[in-house]
Amino acid sequence: MSSSRVQTICPFCGVGCGITLKVDERGRLTGVEPVPGHPISHGKLCEKGWSTAYAIRPDNRITQPLKRCRDRFEPVSWDEALDDISQSIREILDESGPAAIGVISSARATNEDNYAAQKFARAVLKTNNVDHCARICHSPTVAGLKQTLGSGAMTNSAKDIFATDLIVVIGADPTENHSVLGGQIFAAQQHGAKLIVIDPRQTRLAKVADIHLQLKPGSNIALINAMLQVIFEENWHNADFIAERCDGFDELARQVETITPESVESITGVDAAQIRAVAKIYAQAEKAMILYGMGITQFVSGTQNVIALSDLALVCGQIGRPGTGINPLRGQNNVQGACDMGCLPNVYPGYQGADNDAVQQKFNQAWQGEVANQPGLTSLGMSKAALAGEFRGLILFGEDPVVTDPDQNHVRDAYKQLDLLVVAELTMTETAKLADYVLPAASFAEKEGTFTNCERRVQHIAQALQPPGSAMGDWQWLNALAQRLGSDQLNWPNSQAVFDEMAALNPAYLGMRYDKMIQAQGLQWPCNDDAPNGTDILHRDSFPIGKARLIPVHYTAIDESVDADYPLLLTTNRLHFHYGCGSMTRKSPLLERETPPGLLFIHPDDARQLKITRYAPIGVRSRRGYIETRAMITPDVPPGLVSMPYHFKEAPSNQLTNTAQDPITKMPELKACAVTVFPLPAG
Ligand code: SF4
Repeated sequence: MSSSRVQTICPFCGVGCGITLKVDERGRLTGVEPVPGHPISHGKLCEKGWSTAYAIRPDNRITQPLKRCRDRFEPVSWDEALDDISQSIREILDESGPAAIGVISSARATNEDNYAAQKFARAVLKTNNVDHCARICHSPTVAGLKQTLGSGAMTNSAKDIFATDLIVVIGADPTENHSVLGGQIFAAQQHGAKLIVIDPRQTRLAKVADIHLQLKPGSNIALINAMLQVIFEENWHNADFIAERCDGFDELARQVETITPESVESITGVDAAQIRAVAKIYAQAEKAMILYGMGITQFVSGTQNVIALSDLALVCGQIGRPGTGINPLRGQNNVQGACDMGCLPNVYPGYQGADNDAVQQKFNQAWQGEVANQPGLTSLGMSKAALAGEFRGLILFGEDPVVTDPDQNHVRDAYKQLDLLVVAELTMTETAKLADYVLPAASFAEKEGTFTNCERRVQHIAQALQPPGSAMGDWQWLNALAQRLGSDQLNWPNSQAVFDEMAALNPAYLGMRYDKMIQAQGLQWPCNDDAPNGTDILHRDSFPIGKARLIPVHYTAIDESVDADYPLLLTTNRLHFHYGCGSMTRKSPLLERETPPGLLFIHPDDARQLKITRYAPIGVRSRRGYIETRAMITPDVPPGLVSMPYHFKEAPSNQLTNTAQDPITKMPELKACAVTVFPLPAG
């Protein structure tokens, strides 16, 4: 074997930077390089990208199937594991029906793995119980933008950051979470674009922004409605765009008529003059681009927050042109793709409604048999049903809900109730530790397929390495399991065949050809007869729903306010050096060195009052759980607010978080819950 260099895509966030994996003569990964001229990353990588090699090193990898024998795992063959699993599935289906079983797929896995997962659920198990972690990041984006614009994705492209006059970053921290894009925002500002940051924390971008609105957590709608009131009062709205392309103007104008900036000062904590100034700058900018993240979506009002942003962009005509738009920054590398593939209980691939008869007929025909026809459960719904004894079997890959879902104790208890828990993973995660069977998965570098990044770009990932031991790709073991359950529906010869089947059934991917997608360094959907080379800007001339909908939304307070027992508000955040549950990035000594495990960020005034010193051990308690960690004292969080990352199993912030949900998408309110913090004796 000779050494090789394989071009693929960084697996650590939704930006989707190009990386080259360097492999030596013995088939070992020896290094990583950025791809010069890549359409998004332009020859750059952040620290996570540079550390990719550690994430997939063979040490600690699960290399063969494991079966639980009381309180330990024993290695078994694939045949034994799959025979046993299929037997348990049959028993659950016979005794309790398809409503009692489900699949959780992964925003880290390929489109092909995700397509196979939802097809396995719907065509083999006959259930719509299929979900993935978009539930807890951008499900309100999909629901909100679908209602207002007809399409739940980033409207513009990353390159538009350099084509705009004004960048508004709201509820997002791109230098930590989407670092290469964060760097591009810095660069665009240096080249003359104005930068407005709206965030309760003083993020790195907030510190250099032209204006930082430091609003109170959960007050987004009050702030945006007040901006709309000013825009209408001053006649700064784009009347031609509204008349030509939007419905619902009168209702929206009526709804915000009395919501003046002064009337929301106490809710938002933002000075009325600042709200007026930002409304003017946004409305009068020639081209203004909104970028948002989970500071918008992870609230009980998540979907309404997204709708409010959409209202703002539409009334100012800031959509459908270069340098404009509403742009959700998707977190995980393939969360956009997992949604596009239909790994959601209510939609088939391409967001085709699972409750629509014509769609069901289409998939009955394509998959040669009756597909699931009952509504499905979300991932949190599956946990709840398990605790109620109504849900018995879960097949899960590439996710660690015990660390990443809210109210960890609740998730752990639910998974312990299951009769069958199958987890396919690279390493032994907290969720895998609860499994009946743990299957060895292949990493992104050990398989071929596609990821779809946050700007809707479908990109090829190439196999650089052999999987360790008997590890294999997810669609391959799902196929082996389907065969044992009597179905040939997942029996594809290769990843391209999975992609081709999916593209033929997904209207947004209909015109994508594998070779063309590779050659073009990715194609952005929709790609079809009207747009054979893909689409960089959505909604240029029309919306998929004809006219866009302006929908009035009302401010809703966060579910859990502070009180005498729990006097501080906790919000969650992510750190530049880690990704998700940390199972990949924490293998890198370089990244691990940068931040001690855990950490609670607290303002100096609160720390002084509580007699907490820098790095001192502290206890944090909410109504749901208790953890111990260390204090980082910083004015980056305002007084009254504390903040914690969720990457660390030693100090799992999701022991504390609230499960109160957005009624539309069941998104839990991960961005706000009441806690009490106190010093612990040093030791
Ligand atoms: Fe990887 Fe995201 Fe960093 Fe790019 S920005 S190198 S995709 S982690």
